[in-house]
Amino acid sequence: MNVHDSEKMLGVLERQGYAETEDPRRADLIIFNTCSIRQKAEQKFYSELGRAKAYKKKRSKMKIAIAGCIAQQTGEGIFKKAPYVDFVFGPQNIHILENLASGCNASVVTEDNPHIAFTDLPVKRSDTVRAWVTIMYGCNNFCSFCVVPYTRGRERSRPSDSIITEIEALAEGGYKEITLLGQNVNSYKSDIDFPGLLRRISRIGGIERIRFVTSHPRDLSEDLIEVMADLPKVCKHIHLPLQSGSTRLLRLMNRGYSYDDYLGKISTLREEVPGIAITSDIIAGFPSETEEDHFHTIMALKDIEFDGIFAFRFSQRPGTRAAEMEGQLPEGIKSERLTQILKLQDEITERKNKALEGTIQEILIEGVSETDREKLTGRTGTNKIVTIPVVDVERGALISVEIIRGRKHSLEGRLIER
Ligand code: SF4
Repeated sequence: MNVHDSEKMLGVLERQGYAETEDPRRADLIIFNTCSIRQKAEQKFYSELGRAKAYKKKRSKMKIAIAGCIAQQTGEGIFKKAPYVDFVFGPQNIHILENLASGCNASVVTEDNPHIAFTDLPVKRSDTVRAWVTIMYGCNNFCSFCVVPYTRGRERSRPSDSIITEIEALAEGGYKEITLLGQNVNSYKSDIDFPGLLRRISRIGGIERIRFVTSHPRDLSEDLIEVMADLPKVCKHIHLPLQSGSTRLLRLMNRGYSYDDYLGKISTLREEVPGIAITSDIIAGFPSETEEDHFHTIMALKDIEFDGIFAFRFSQRPGTRAAEMEGQLPEGIKSERLTQILKLQDEITERKNKALEGTIQEILIEGVSETDREKLTGRTGTNKIVTIPVVDVERGALISVEIIRGRKHSLEGRLIER
């Protein structure tokens, strides 16, 4: 979502005559679009900010702006830490950049206004084949470890007509794949619900693939599963954060489901949508996590066999309930558990990728590989990266390939048909 917010900032600034530069020392404006979901990201931001201060010393007309979740949460407080910063604006206030050319005099804008959040801003997209489209903002779930409800505000859904208009324009512009963005897309609700929205989007000619992130397990409805099974354009991949295999911890996290509830959803998904890929998020070392809780998570990974996971050490985020909970674990234990989780998942992912050897997959070509100019990269509907030797196909082409090798993080294939 932050990446797409950056695309909006670039779009707004370009309309005012700004151009991107690779060299921050030559910039008239540096914007930090920040993330506060984990402490590490925040630490990294402050160290980069120190570097920008040095650039500004040498270039007096340079302005520095802080955007995103740290801006929203810290507000005026940023000036205490970094008085050389010029503007601070939250994720729902990107529109303030529209006033830069005329001299923006508001230095802190962190208003929570649903109309402002959905203002149609120009977007400078980083890709010409795949596009990200925001369908909702905010979250009402208040998971005990998460800052999102505080930084992005309460949940609100964008009107479906506005979403459809944006996607129709993308289809006309040659985009083939869209990813619908929201903190909890399953609870999208305007004049239609999320499955209804997917049905409408799948009728748009030119769009070949529809993806969405993120889904909350509690709100994963039978109707959505049916839509995933029935609509060919809806990719057979779901990212469904589990967070822990321990029901006791899930309760402390305020996730709203037990491990058994989660397992039930997984088996329905696999029954109704054969071949579906399921990925997840896991937190290692949540406060009071015992060896037994950790063991439940390890067993969950073995039982479910996700296609991939994002796993992180628990990070104490200021203002969240989990940050104040008793039983905070030493970093060493969290790291040890995280290492076990990642090692196990790597083995599972590699095994699952190897099982695809010899199968035929349809991939959407994304371009020449950044690490090997002799290869093209594409992605299966199940969101697995496939590389093939360079052939004469355009970006955005859908081609069939045979998987010849499954690796830990990607697949190797060869073209069999255009
Ligand atoms: S559902 Fe997701 S975004 Fe919302 S509070 Fe929980 S973790 Fe945060």
